[in-house]
Parts: sequence; structure tokens; C-alpha cells
Amino acid sequence: MASSTTTRSEALFARARQVTPGGVNSPVRAFKSVGGTPRFIREAHGAYLTDMDGARLVDYIGSWGPMILGHDHPAVREAIAAALQGGTSFGAPGEREVELAELVTRLTGAGRVRFVSSGTEATMSALRLARGFTGRKYIVKFRGNYHGHADGLLVEAGSGLLTNAEGVLGTSAPSSAGVPEEYAALTLVSEYNDPAALDALMARRGHEVAAVIFEPVVGNAGVLVPTPEFLAALHRVKASGALLVADEVMTGFRLSLNGATGLLGLSPDLTCWGKIIGGGLPVGAYGGRAEVMDFVSPQGPVYQAGTLSGNPLAMAAGLATLRMLEADPGIYERLETYTAELAQGLRAAASEAGVPLSLNRVGSMLTAFHQEAPDGSVRTYPDAARSDTAGFARWFQAMLARGVYWAPSQFESIFVSGAHTDTELNITLDAARAAYRRVNE
Ligand code: PMP
Repeated sequence: MASSTTTRSEALFARARQVTPGGVNSPVRAFKSVGGTPRFIREAHGAYLTDMDGARLVDYIGSWGPMILGHDHPAVREAIAAALQGGTSFGAPGEREVELAELVTRLTGAGRVRFVSSGTEATMSALRLARGFTGRKYIVKFRGNYHGHADGLLVEAGSGLLTNAEGVLGTSAPSSAGVPEEYAALTLVSEYNDPAALDALMARRGHEVAAVIFEPVVGNAGVLVPTPEFLAALHRVKASGALLVADEVMTGFRLSLNGATGLLGLSPDLTCWGKIIGGGLPVGAYGGRAEVMDFVSPQGPVYQAGTLSGNPLAMAAGLATLRMLEADPGIYERLETYTAELAQGLRAAASEAGVPLSLNRVGSMLTAFHQEAPDGSVRTYPDAARSDTAGFARWFQAMLARGVYWAPSQFESIFVSGAHTDTELNITLDAARAAYRRVNE
């Protein structure tokens, strides 16, 4: 099933590097942290990617989340094809935008929703809105959370030098060149799953904070699961007048029809979506309480616009995907069962090979950290960072050689789809048993 030949991927990667920075259009695709040649993909169907050299690979990235129904799902393909008959972009409103907005508001309880074209745009716009609505400048984010690549969000926690006596991390340095420190200074960073640090930060600075943005289940430091105490602290930030902004770009429609918010009983003021909401085409969205959302132009004073926003093909793919999920809520149970069995199988395979593994999982999101900590005890980015990334890289390559395309970084979630069946589970666990034996070689 797997092919060890990567001749065509190598040739394409060489060409790509001549014309595109690093040869890819989004960094993790370059396999930098795991080494080797990134596979260039020719096509994708169901639970499989087929690379340019003809290898069929069981896919665990699902385009980094959107493909919850599996690739090339007939309902989504047909909806896109039907939309295509009517032209590809209008620059004027259409019926599908209204239908998708009605569906999203019904499923999530948001009063209003605005469509954009990526998760980055969704978070960037939601924060501008929070600033416009509150008249405040500062935002709070959590170390190891990712909210897209807008300037003010490319800020990670700094070293211990920035940690003040209260245990608050405070303002941190930009995590990318090109982000002026004046922008970064408006972003305050706190530790995920540390309710005391958040309480202390809000006690000092809460009156200046427009929004606290967070991943309700983190996928971008590997999977981190919020503790009940941390969720309670998140809710407390509202008392300061700051808006609570849930970034459900990854978790929205994946962990339940109402995302992580529904699963965890959270009530954010604003929510950001992406990925599944576009069914594999470029869509993001933000929404929430009507009185806040009505600050957005043309209704209100906060400007936000987009040439391709509400694009008919993208709306059709999102509508078909969400309608399929709503018509088949049993899909979430099937995803849960598959991913629980996957976790169980990985644990057994790793323990047989003497490889320590610490698993974090919520529904169909899972990270197996290569480290000794007991399952569920990796709660913060510094916890995750203690993983054996070299061991993970060896395991990743051994999986790929056996036809399983795992997320090419220790600090990412994998995504299971409705197209994954016992066949793919068996292929994966057979590969995993062999791959864990390679970790300590
Ligand atoms: N927020 C979260 C939680 C994400 O996981 C991502 C992307 N992985 C983004 C925002 C940014 O989305 P996009 O890549 O569509 O800009």
C-alpha cells in the first residue's frame, strides 16, 4: 500500500523551492520538524491521500481539520458542482450566504454571523470588533494557543524573564520577525490552564482588556484539554467588561454540532470559526451576540470587508458539510469510538515497544506526546514541550513509510474523519506497532 519511492515529490519540491519560499504555501507542510521530503498530493478520496508517486496514505490531517466527512464526499462535491453552474463569484449578496448564516446561528446560538475567507481573518476581525465595542486596547491570549497569523496574535509567551512576581507572564515578544514590538505590547500572554495566573492578570489589567481569546480545546500545542477550574476563570473575565472570544476554528462542528463550546458548556461573547464551516473551501466566520455584532460595518463603526467573502462555491461546500453533520449526529459517536480505539491501540503498541507516551484526546482530536507523563497530565505548552521530538520524528517517518500520514509535528492534533473505518484503524495500528519499535533504534 505504501510506496517508498518519493521521486516525483522530490522533483516537485525542488521546483517549488525555486518559486515559493521553502517550497510550500504554509510552513508545517514542509516537514521541517520531522525531516524528509514532504509528499506532494495528487488527489484525496475518503480517508486517503494519494501522493504524486502513487502511494495511498491513510490521512490523519484531513486538510488540518476541514475534512470531517472525508475527502471528496459526494454530497459536498455535488453541492459545489451545482453552485459552479451559476458562476464563481458575484461581489453581491446571494441566497447561500443567508442559508449558511441561518444554519450556523441555529446550531451555535450566535445572534449574528459574518463570513470571511480564513480562520486568520475571523480572529483578526473578532478582535477588532471587541476593541471597537469595548473602546479598550489590550487583548489576552494564552501561551501555545494559535489564532492565525495576524500581527497582534503572533505573540508567544516570553522566557521566565518576563514572568513577574505574581506568576503572570505579562506582555511578551513577537514570535515572528516583522511584528513591531508596539503591536506585541498590546497582547498580554497568560498560561493556558493556569486559573490563578489569569485571575491575577485580570485583576491588574482587566479594565484595559478588550478581549480574552482562547482555544476551548487546544490543538495547536498538540491537544491540551482545559480543566474545569480554568474554564471557570475564563468565565470570570467577563466581570471586567472584557469580551470572551472562543476560537473554534479547529473545534467548531468537530467536537459537536456546537463545537467545544457546546461540549464544555461555555458561553463566549464572540466565537470564531473556520475549517469545517467551509467544507474544504476557504471560509472563516465570526459571530455572537447581536448587540456586539451590530458594531460591524455597514451596521456599525467597525470596518471589515472581503472581495470573496460569502463566495457561492465556498458557501455551498460549507452548507453541504454542516447539513450532512446535522442529518447524521451519530457521526460524532462514530468519531469518538474510532479515536478512542486508536488511542487505546497506540498506547498498547507504544508500551509493548517500551516507548513512553502521554495521550490527550477529545473526540476526534488526539495528540500522543512522546513523554513519561501520565495520560491527561500534559496541560500547558511547557508540559508539551518536554516531549521527545526526535523520537516522534522517527515514529512519524516509520508510519509514513507504512502508508500512514500522521500530523508532521509533535505539537499538532490529528483529525479523524467519518470515512475512517476498521480497515484504516487496523492499517494504522499495524503500522504503529512496527513504528514504535523503530523509535529507540
Ligand atoms: N485559529 C485556530 C484555532 C487554528 O487552528 C487556525 C489554523 N490552524 C487558525 C485560527 C487560523 O486559520 P487559517 O489557517 O484558516 O487562517
